[in-house]
Amino acid sequence: MDFARLIREIPDFPKPGIRFKDFSPLLADGQAFADAVAAMAAPWRGQSLRAVVGIEARGFILGAAVARELGIGFVPVRKPGKLPGAVREVSYALEYGHDRLQVQADAVPPGAAVLIVDDVLATGGTLAAAAELVEGLGARLAGAAVLLELGALGGRRRWARNQPLLATLSY
Ligand code: AMP
Repeated sequence: MDFARLIREIPDFPKPGIRFKDFSPLLADGQAFADAVAAMAAPWRGQSLRAVVGIEARGFILGAAVARELGIGFVPVRKPGKLPGAVREVSYALEYGHDRLQVQADAVPPGAAVLIVDDVLATGGTLAAAAELVEGLGARLAGAAVLLELGALGGRRRWARNQPLLATLSY
């Protein structure tokens, strides 16, 4: 399946200078969606994972589907103020300013193996922050999976971990 033809680039969205990779056409195509999710999940089969940790918001779409594909649970990582109860939080640097992510403090038992899923690896800040958050819970990070990697932005360097970071498509 040629996923790339179902991912379009929208210039200057959400702000000037960003070339936004929009995979809505892929999601809207039942076969392509199923094939993309299967491709993202395949390397992680048989690894005794407990849950997929998906990052708001497009990471929820792919992450929940990958979790179902693997027959495991799903844990949401969200922007501040969205999750009820006790949460853990991480703050991370963006190109301009800071952002924060939260996870529920009891989301996974200590030692449980988890896989982080997001849609796009750009500068890598989001994925690195999610990894920090997961490790703060005492979970065992198995690795991360993204649908696509924007190689020129060097996000892989920011990952800087031994655990695999796998991209289904690279640009
Ligand atoms: P980063 O932290 O720079 O790796 O950015 C990754 C997050 O921002 C992901 O959750 C993506 O959804 C989003 N993102 C960043 N750049 C793009 C882009 N060019 N196209 C689509 N989404 C992007």
